[in-house]
Amino acid sequence: MFNRDLVLKQRAEILHALCSSGSTEHLERVLDKLLSQGELIWEEYQNIQVQGRALYTNVRQLLDLVYTKGEDTCEFFLAAVKQVLPEAQGAGITFSGCCSNLEKTGESQSTSSQTLLTQRASLVTKLQACIDGALEALVESGHFTSSDCDDVLLPIHTPSQQARRLLDHVRSKGESAAKCVLHYIQESESSLNQEKWTLSKEFSKYQKKLSSSVSAQSCFLSSYGRTSHMPLDEIYTEAQLELANDFADLSGALDLDDIVGAAGTVNDEADTVLVSGEAGSGKSTVLQRLHLLWARGVSLKGFLLLFPFSCRRLNSEQRELSVQELLFQHCCWPDKEQEEIFQFILDHPHLILFSFDGLDELKQGFSDEHMVCCPTQRAPVNILLFNLLQGFLMKGVRKVVTSRPEAVGPMLKKHLRKEVLLKGFSPSGIDCFVKKHHRDPTVAAKVLESLQMNTALLGLCHSPVLCWIVSQCHKELLGCGEGSPQTITDVYLMILQHFLQHQSPLKSTMGLGWLQEHIKVVLHLGQLAFEGLGTSCYIFTDTDLETCYVTEKDICMGFLILSKDMSSTHSKRYEFLHVTMQCFFAALFIVLSNNTDRSTIHKLFEPQNMKGTRLSSNCFMGCIPSSDQQEQGLEGESVIAETSNLQITATFVSGLLSQRHRSLWFHCCPSAGMEKKVRQVVKCLSKGMHKHFKSIPQPVQGEKKSMHAMPGFVWLIKCIYEMQECKIAKDAMSKLEVDHLKLTYCNIGPVECTALAYVLQYLRNPVGLQLDYNSVGDVGVEQLLPCMHICNSLYLRNNNITDEGIRKLIAKGIQCDNFQKIALFNNKLTDACTQHFSLLLKTKQNFLSLRLGNNNITAEGAKQLAEGLKFNHSLQYLGLWGNKISDTGAEALASALEGSKTLVWLSLVGNGVGSAGAYALAKVIESSASLEELWLTENCITKAGVECLIQALERNTHVKSVWLRNNDLSLEEVEEMTRCESRLIF
Ligand code: ADP
Repeated sequence: MFNRDLVLKQRAEILHALCSSGSTEHLERVLDKLLSQGELIWEEYQNIQVQGRALYTNVRQLLDLVYTKGEDTCEFFLAAVKQVLPEAQGAGITFSGCCSNLEKTGESQSTSSQTLLTQRASLVTKLQACIDGALEALVESGHFTSSDCDDVLLPIHTPSQQARRLLDHVRSKGESAAKCVLHYIQESESSLNQEKWTLSKEFSKYQKKLSSSVSAQSCFLSSYGRTSHMPLDEIYTEAQLELANDFADLSGALDLDDIVGAAGTVNDEADTVLVSGEAGSGKSTVLQRLHLLWARGVSLKGFLLLFPFSCRRLNSEQRELSVQELLFQHCCWPDKEQEEIFQFILDHPHLILFSFDGLDELKQGFSDEHMVCCPTQRAPVNILLFNLLQGFLMKGVRKVVTSRPEAVGPMLKKHLRKEVLLKGFSPSGIDCFVKKHHRDPTVAAKVLESLQMNTALLGLCHSPVLCWIVSQCHKELLGCGEGSPQTITDVYLMILQHFLQHQSPLKSTMGLGWLQEHIKVVLHLGQLAFEGLGTSCYIFTDTDLETCYVTEKDICMGFLILSKDMSSTHSKRYEFLHVTMQCFFAALFIVLSNNTDRSTIHKLFEPQNMKGTRLSSNCFMGCIPSSDQQEQGLEGESVIAETSNLQITATFVSGLLSQRHRSLWFHCCPSAGMEKKVRQVVKCLSKGMHKHFKSIPQPVQGEKKSMHAMPGFVWLIKCIYEMQECKIAKDAMSKLEVDHLKLTYCNIGPVECTALAYVLQYLRNPVGLQLDYNSVGDVGVEQLLPCMHICNSLYLRNNNITDEGIRKLIAKGIQCDNFQKIALFNNKLTDACTQHFSLLLKTKQNFLSLRLGNNNITAEGAKQLAEGLKFNHSLQYLGLWGNKISDTGAEALASALEGSKTLVWLSLVGNGVGSAGAYALAKVIESSASLEELWLTENCITKAGVECLIQALERNTHVKSVWLRNNDLSLEEVEEMTRCESRLIF
C-alpha cells in the first residue's frame, strides 16, 4: 500500500498514538524531524504548532498537511512517527511502506538559520544540557532580552520544550543569533569533552610552546616583508566567505569561525574542510588569521593543539616520515615526553586541528592509491597528507586545507566535510583595507576616489593581492592621471616600477628608461621564476639563486622574501612575495629574454598539451627530489594546479606584449624578436578561441545555438583583454556564431566581467548571456555595460547584485534595442530598484521577460512595478516568486495587468498573497486574452479566494493552469475544488 493511503486509512490510530499520553512531546519530536528533513517549512510548522490549541487539533492539522504534500512526505512522516513512538504505542500502526532513513540529513546547510532547522532534532537534545548557558550567551551578545529568557524558561515547559522555544526565538532574531547559539553549543560540547581529562604538566608546556610558535609565525603579514613589517592585526580585513553549494544564501555571510563550524556540512563523517579561492584571494592570510586567533585563545577554543603546515614547504621534505615525526619535526618539538603527548593526540582527535595551506602547490597531485592507517608507519609526506585528508590517518582530527579550485578533483571532493569559497574583498572590504593601509585619511580618501573613477581597477581590487599592490603604489597611482592602470599587467608593472625605484630613488629616471636601468635584476629574477614554474618550485635555495645569477642586491629589491619555516632548517630559503609575482617575473623573462625555447609561448598557451614536457628545458634540479615518484606526481592531478600558474603567466605575457607597453621594451630587446612573440601570442589566442567555437554542438532544429563555456574560455578572453587591442577582440568574436552563451558557475567576478564585456561587445549578432551563479556584484554589472547592446537576454541569478547595480544596468538597458529579458533571481534587490524596472517597462515596448524571484520586494515595490506595467504592451513573463508583495501588491499588479494582451506567465509563488489578492487576480484571468499560467503556490489563499478564480476560469479558455499548492485549504476543500475545475493544480 502507498504511504499516503497508510496515513489516510490509519488516521484515527496515528492520532490516538500521538495524543494519548496527553503530552505534546511526541508531536513535537515528529515535527522536529520533518523540519530537519525539509519536509515542512517554517511557516507550516508554525501553523501546526499553535500554542493553546488542543493537541488533537494540531495533530489533525499535521495529518492533513502531510497527506496534501504527497507520497514522499507521508513516507517521512510515517518513519518519524515510528521512531518517536515507544514500541507499544506504535504497535497497532502499519509502517510497512516507509523505508525513509531519517538520519540522512546530509544536505548542505548554507546558513546558521538553516542549520537550526536541519539539525533541529539533535540541537534540541544538546541544548537541554546547557540551556542556561546558551541563554546567557544570547543575552550577552545582545540577541535576547530578559523577557525572551523568561518566555523560554516558563515553568510549564519541559526541558525539551524549553530547548525548542529557545530555537524558535533564535530563529525569529535572525542569522546572527543563530550563529551565536550554534557557536555556544559547539564550544560547550568541546569544553564538556575537555573536562573529562586533566592535562599533564608536559602537555601544557608543549601546548604553550606550540601556540607561541604559531603566534610568532602568524603575527606579521609576509607580503610586507622587506618594505615594512605589517602586523596582521593592523591590516587584516574581512574577506568574503561563502559556502560552495547551490543553496548558498548570500545574505548569510560566513565568518572565520564558520570555516570549522557546523554550517554547510555536507558530510558529517569527513574531517576535511576545504577553503578554495583563486591565487591572491587571501587563502593563506585567512588561515594565518585563524592561526593567530587560536594562539591567542580567541577562536577555535575547542582545539587544544593546532598544527599548521604549508604544502609549499612540505615539498622539500624528502624523507619518509610518520605522522608523529611530521607533527613534531615540522611544527613543534616537545622537549620531553614525546610519546605521552602523541598518545594524548591519538586519544583525543577531536581536540586537534591540522591546517594545510596551498594544496595546489604540492608537487604530487592528490591520489588515493596508497593507504596508510597507522600513525607510526613512515611514508612520503604527500602520502601521509592524502591519508590524513581522507581520514584513514588521524580520524576525527579536523583538517582545514586551502587550495585553488582547479587543483581539487572529484577524488578528493568526496572526502570533504564541506567547502568554503573565498571570494576576495567586498566593495566595503576594499574601502576598509585601503583605510587600514593608509593611516593618513586624506591619502586613503584620494586612493579610494581614484578607484571610484576607474571601475576596471576597482574590479581588480576585489582580489586582495591586487588591492595590496594598488595601495602600496598609491603614489604611482595618483600620479598617473589619465593613464591609470586598467589591466592586471598594468598593476604588476606598477609594483615593478615601484619596488625598483624605491631601492634606487636617486638614480631613478621617471621616463620609460626605468626598466632598461634595471634590466639585469629583472632578467635574473625572471629566470629564477621561470625555471621554478617549469618545475613547480616555489622555494629557492642559495644554489638556485646562484644558478640564475640572483645577487644580494637583486634580493634587496623586495620581490623575494625569506621563506618562513616551522621546522628548524638552517639554510636560508627564499620565495616570491606571492605566487602571482613569480608568474609575472616568469612572463617578463619570456618576453625579454632571448634564451627561452622557441616553443615556450606555444606551450604556455596550450598547457593541456604539456603533459610530460617542461616549460623550461633547463630546469634546475636543486629544489626538487629527482625520484621516479616525483616524475609520476607531475603527471598526475598536479598538472592541473600547474596549469593554473601557466595560465596566469600567459595572461601576463599577453599583457606585456600589448602595443601599449612596447615602448617600455624598446631599449631592452630587439624589436624583430618582440614582433615575432606578439604574432605567436595572437595566433595562439585565435587558435584557442577557434577550438572552443568548434566544440559548439549544432542546435536541434527549432532550438537556439548555445555555447556552454568550457574551462579555459574565460582565461582566453582575459588574455585578449590584457592585450587591449580591439582588432584582436574583433577578429576573435567575428567567428563566434551562437544565440546563447552560458557561463554559469564559472567564477566570474568583476575582473572577468570587464574582460568579457571588452571582447563580447564585438559579437556580430545579439546573444543571451547567462551568468547565473557567479560573483558579478554591482561592480561587475557596471563592467558589463559596454556589451549590453549585444545582449538580448541577461541572466544574473545569484550574483550578489543590489539596487545600485540595477540602477546602472537599467539606465543602460533602456537605450539598448536588443535587450528584452532579464533574470535576477536570488540577489539583494529591494523596493528601491522597482522604480527603475517601472521606467524600463514604460519605455521599452519590446521587453519580454522580467524575473525578480527571491529578492526583497514588498507591496510598495509591486505598486511601482504596476505603474510601469500599466503602460507596457509587450511583457510576456513576470516572475516574483519568493518576495513579500502580499495582497496589496497582488492587487496593484492585477489592476495593471487587467486586459493584458501579452502576459503569458505570472508567478507570485510564496508572496503572502491571500484571498483578496486572488480576487483581484481573478479579474486578470477573466480579462486577459494571453495568460496561460498563473503560479500561486505557497500563499495563504482560502476557499473564498479559489472560488473567485474558478468563476473567472469559467470565462477563460486560454489559461492552462493555476497552481495553488500549499495554500490555506483543507483536504476536503482541495478535493471538491479539483472536481470543479481541472486546471487548478493543488
Ligand atoms: P592566496 O593564499 O589566496 O594566494 P594570500 O593570502 O597570499 O592569497 O594573499 C595575498 C596578499 O593579499 C597578502 O599577502 C596580503 O597582502 C593581501 N591579503 C590577502 N587577504 C587579506 C586580508 N584578509 N586582509 C588584508 N590583506 C590581505
